[in-house]
Amino acid sequence: MSAITEHLQSVRTRVSQAARQAQRDPSSVNLLAVSKTQPVSAILEAAEAGQSAFGENYEQEAVRKILAIRQERPDLKLEWHFIGPIQSNKTRAIAEYFDWVHSVDRERIARRLSEQRPDDLPPLNICLQVNISGEDSKSGVRPEELAALVRAVSGMPRLKLRGLMAIPEPQSDPEKQRQPFNAMKMLFEQLKRAGYDLDTLSMGMSDDMEAAVQEGATTVRIGTAIFGQRHYPEKR
Ligand SMILES: *Cc1c(COP(=O)(O)O)cnc(C)c1O
Repeated sequence: MSAITEHLQSVRTRVSQAARQAQRDPSSVNLLAVSKTQPVSAILEAAEAGQSAFGENYEQEAVRKILAIRQERPDLKLEWHFIGPIQSNKTRAIAEYFDWVHSVDRERIARRLSEQRPDDLPPLNICLQVNISGEDSKSGVRPEELAALVRAVSGMPRLKLRGLMAIPEPQSDPEKQRQPFNAMKMLFEQLKRAGYDLDTLSMGMSDDMEAAVQEGATTVRIGTAIFGQRHYPEKR
C-alpha cells in the first residue's frame, strides 16, 4: 500500500473515532484533502484510494494541476475547493475552475465571484471565513460583521452560501483547541436559527481535527497528515 493510501486510511479512522466519541455519525464529516504544493501524482494516488475532494490555496498552481488532471484522467470526477486568501485579480479563474470557495471574507470578492461564475456551471458553493481567534494577521470576517456579509452573499445569484470556515490560532492543548471551534458552532447554529439554509462548517486541520469534529465540523481540511510535509518553492 502506498504511503498516501495508508495516511488517508488513518485520517479517516481518526475522524470516525472522534465522531463516534461525540455521538455523531461518522458519515456526517467530509474529508477535504489539502493538496497545495503537492504534485499531480500525489493527488492521483489519493484519488485512486477513493478521495474525491481536494483543497488548493494558490490559484495558478491549482489551475495548472486541475488542467493536467483533466487531460490525463478525463474519467476522474474530482471536486475542487479553493481555501486560500483571495486577491481580486484571481476571482475569475477561481469562479471558472472551482466547485467551492471556503475563504470568502469580503462582499466585494463575493460579488466578483458571482458575476464571473460561468452560466453553464452550477452556482459556486461558498463558505464565509470567520476570524474567530481575532488575530490581526488573519483573514476572515470579524464575528460582529458576519451577519451583514451573510445577508449580502445569500442574495447573490451565482453563489450558493453553504456555511462557515475558520482557521483558529494554533493551540497544542486539545481542550483549548475546542474553544474557537465551539464559538464557530454557535455562530453557525445562530445563522441556521435565523433561517439560513446552511450545511457546512469547515474547520479542523491535521493537528486539531479531533477537537473540530467534537465541536461539530462537517468538513475537515487535512494536508500534512495525508500527504506529508509540504515543500514550498523558494519564491512564490
Ligand atoms: C494548508 C491548509 C490546511 C491543511 O493544513 P494541515 O495542517 O497541513 O493539515 C487546511 N486549511 C487551510 C485553509 C490551509 O491553508
